Amino acid sequence: MKPRKILLMGLRRSGKSSIQKVVFHKLPPNETLFLESTSKLTKDHISSFIDFSVWDFPGQVDVFDTAFDFESIFNQVGALVFVIDAQDDYLEALSRLYITISRAVAINPQIFIEVFIHKVDGLSDDFKIDTQRDIQQRTQDELSDAGLENVSLSFHLTSIFDHSIFEAFSRVIQKLIPQLPALENLLNIFCSNSLVEKAFLFDVYSKIYVATDSSPVDVQSYEICSDVIDVILDFGSIYGTSNSSKPTDDSEAIAQRYPIDEASSVIRLSTGLVLFLREVNQFLALVCIIRAENFEKSGLVEYNVQCFQKAVQKIFQL
Ligand code: GDP
Repeated sequence: MKPRKILLMGLRRSGKSSIQKVVFHKLPPNETLFLESTSKLTKDHISSFIDFSVWDFPGQVDVFDTAFDFESIFNQVGALVFVIDAQDDYLEALSRLYITISRAVAINPQIFIEVFIHKVDGLSDDFKIDTQRDIQQRTQDELSDAGLENVSLSFHLTSIFDHSIFEAFSRVIQKLIPQLPALENLLNIFCSNSLVEKAFLFDVYSKIYVATDSSPVDVQSYEICSDVIDVILDFGSIYGTSNSSKPTDDSEAIAQRYPIDEASSVIRLSTGLVLFLREVNQFLALVCIIRAENFEKSGLVEYNVQCFQKAVQKIFQL
């Protein structure tokens, strides 16, 4: 099985710490302006449904440096996310990217390479497309010159100022979950049997969605569902049961910090829609949008949620 571990790399000032703080520590994007820049290699580990390791990778450290055991680092990760600042001259970042890819793939040929073309909020739509095309073309040319055509390589346009960074992470994570088709299938069955408009299975800690049903994802539905998680976490941390004992492991620490145990919530909007959330397991929550008239028979929805929870547990036990 592929390790569900993601490594984030990139040059200094490309936006790694900001991504990490916004996605995993709920920092408002505007406040990343005041983040201190680091000049040495820093590491941060975030444990959740997926494990994330963020490496701040200054220009002078390279992947051939024997001071670091890159052999074991690349062998343990399922995906390597390389962040490139699209608002800056990216040629140096690209040459660092080629070197990193060739080293990572030589060590772990199964690794997914995910390039985040980042900070695209400052670019016009045309310029975004041109930048992506240029970066993609140069990278592919370079890799085919090096005889590395078969690398699993994807590009994503991202920004911390909108949902695109969460969307990109969702796509990366989905590649690392072999159970994804089964989860999507379950969500489709759940939606059609419960008359739910849209359902997301979220990793609560990061607000990244692990799976969704096959109807198209629109930005507003995604954003409103991830806001529901914020509401629950905020309420949980203020009014939830407090546990002052010291956590013995990572998962206990998360459970204490994010008390979603048996969490459930129903929010009725004036637009005639209902948002509801149900905890699925320690890390995952189901968040759905349903029309108010279809939620009148909420007993049926509750029953289907229970079936869904049991099925998800079985999938992950297998
Ligand atoms: P790091 O050295 O790779 O960790 O980079 P930082 O996270 O310190 O970010 C460097 C600068 O880029 C900061 O001033 C951030 O506010 C800015 N930044 C990060 N992400 C974005 C983004 O998506 N859009 C814009 N416009 N600026 C960003």
